[in-house]
Amino acid sequence: MTNKYIFGPVPSRRLGRSLGVDIIPSKICTLDCVYCEVGKTTELTCARESWFSTDDIIDEFSREYEKVKDNIDVVTITGSGEPTLNRNLAEIARRIKEVSSHPIAILTNSTTLTNKEVQNALMLFDIVVPSLDAATDGAFQAVNLPAPELDIVEINKALAEFTHIFTGKIYLEVLLVKDINDSKEEMSAIADVIKRCRYDMVQVNTVFRPPAYSGTKGLNEEELIDAFLYFKSFGINVEPVGNFVKSLGGTTDENLPERVSALLRMRPCTVNDICAVFGSDEAKTAAVTDSMVKDGLIEEKIFKGQKFYFGRR
Ligand code: SF4
Repeated sequence: MTNKYIFGPVPSRRLGRSLGVDIIPSKICTLDCVYCEVGKTTELTCARESWFSTDDIIDEFSREYEKVKDNIDVVTITGSGEPTLNRNLAEIARRIKEVSSHPIAILTNSTTLTNKEVQNALMLFDIVVPSLDAATDGAFQAVNLPAPELDIVEINKALAEFTHIFTGKIYLEVLLVKDINDSKEEMSAIADVIKRCRYDMVQVNTVFRPPAYSGTKGLNEEELIDAFLYFKSFGINVEPVGNFVKSLGGTTDENLPERVSALLRMRPCTVNDICAVFGSDEAKTAAVTDSMVKDGLIEEKIFKGQKFYFGRR
């Protein structure tokens, strides 16, 4: 029998093995993001509706959950659109929790957080993953092509407020699109919003899969590292992204020289930059760079009073 609502388990780096519950028909959303992997939005709306019977969703969920429950870490409500548009969200979450003993997560584009009913429904979750792609109307319009009534300033205000009321985990997601929301000005405005939020981790992401709008481009690895370090410079707890940085998990004292070499081939870095990327100890990292300079593996140069290390290509 083909499933209508349940998919997976799918691996998610942040959430682990996740059993997905899709509660929105394709493709109804409050946004029409240029980078959307699901395709263009066919119904751009902020109206909350109940498209499906909760009983049907829960019947299918109970059946599939029983098969995979020993093999998953989390149940994730998502959708081929914005899941909080489902008016039965609270009831669905409550009933999933009656069946499941796993944490329950939801991915949301944050636009409906201005609605108290949505905030109340989200309180039932253990993990909320809200998107934050823009802090100015210009970037919001260009990246997210929103429903006309949406106001990014109000949305971000509601997002910040919600994060302080919600007691579960918050993983904020910022998706950067080349030449649209990746300027220092926009990233700095996004960083200001993040600083007003309570969160556990911020993931800075880019376009890795075919986007809804052709011509939409992602950042390359070097630009992603720059963005990552830029957010770090505001004291924000950012998670590494991108193929290069993703592969950096498990950096140890032993493989640090090799990782530093790979990083410096892409961009010059200070010791602090290197520590920010790898989470390495400052003294150990400085010892590694000193020894690599001595061995002629990397070079050092002083620029604007700071010591930068350069890799050999
Ligand atoms: S919010 Fe999500 S589903 Fe909606 S258009 Fe953007 S990426 Fe696609």
